[in-house]
Amino acid sequence: MVSFSKAKTAGKDTRSADQPPAREETLVANLKHDELFYLGRFNGVPCIACAIDEEEQLPADWKTIGLWELYSSMDGVEYNIATYASQIISWQQTSRYCPVCGSPMVSVEGGWGKRCTRGDYSGYPPVIPAIIVLIHDGERLLLSHKPGWGKRYGLIAGFVEPGETLEECVHREVKEEAGIEVDDLQYMKSQPWPFPNQLMVGFTARYKSGEIHPQDGELDDVRWFTRETLPETPPMSVWPICSSPAGLNNNKNSTRGISASSQERRH
Ligand SMILES: [Zn+2]
Repeated sequence: MVSFSKAKTAGKDTRSADQPPAREETLVANLKHDELFYLGRFNGVPCIACAIDEEEQLPADWKTIGLWELYSSMDGVEYNIATYASQIISWQQTSRYCPVCGSPMVSVEGGWGKRCTRGDYSGYPPVIPAIIVLIHDGERLLLSHKPGWGKRYGLIAGFVEPGETLEECVHREVKEEAGIEVDDLQYMKSQPWPFPNQLMVGFTARYKSGEIHPQDGELDDVRWFTRETLPETPPMSVWPICSSPAGLNNNKNSTRGISASSQERRH
């Protein structure tokens, strides 16, 4: 199970337990916590999420781990469950009151949505799209550097703006950050990026024209690298866009995999 205390994940590894818990809440019964949210089952083990009081003393066999740390140490599916849980908890904590009139919000039947108890407003857990693009010229790879990154270089990336397609976003970000034009844009893969709630959409693109230079002041270097001159890169296990899709077995009647009727909500 996973629980959250601010940015930390707290968990107990139930896989090695002799018997799975008969009731999920026994795991947090002695801890101060918010509402429990049932996420579904993974390999037959129920997964629940809840926020634990920040001051709470955890049992000896529990530990807190940040999502960043989990990213490089957990299997893809399990990591995805943790990120799912963190985003559901974050949504619950930020959607208590209507952003239009300030009235309390209540859950909508059949998903994670909430509606205002006074007006018509309803909302859902936010997912913010962002693009990341690997630009090449057939031989070389274009990487960028931000102040404070040390020896590390990264791909061009950025947030999608209102009214913009993903493709338009790639062209704009590349022009803004590197000053060049690209073509032969190809979608590769997407990945939830829970810092705090992005969906990272990965593309490749071929260099077309223009002189490379950082444009918007965000980057202090953009340059080509060959296979032989690549800068320091993180281990493969922590590369974005390489984990497998979420593998929770849960209620298929809901697009989010969970229906309100299957959620066990206890205080
Ligand atoms: Zn309202």
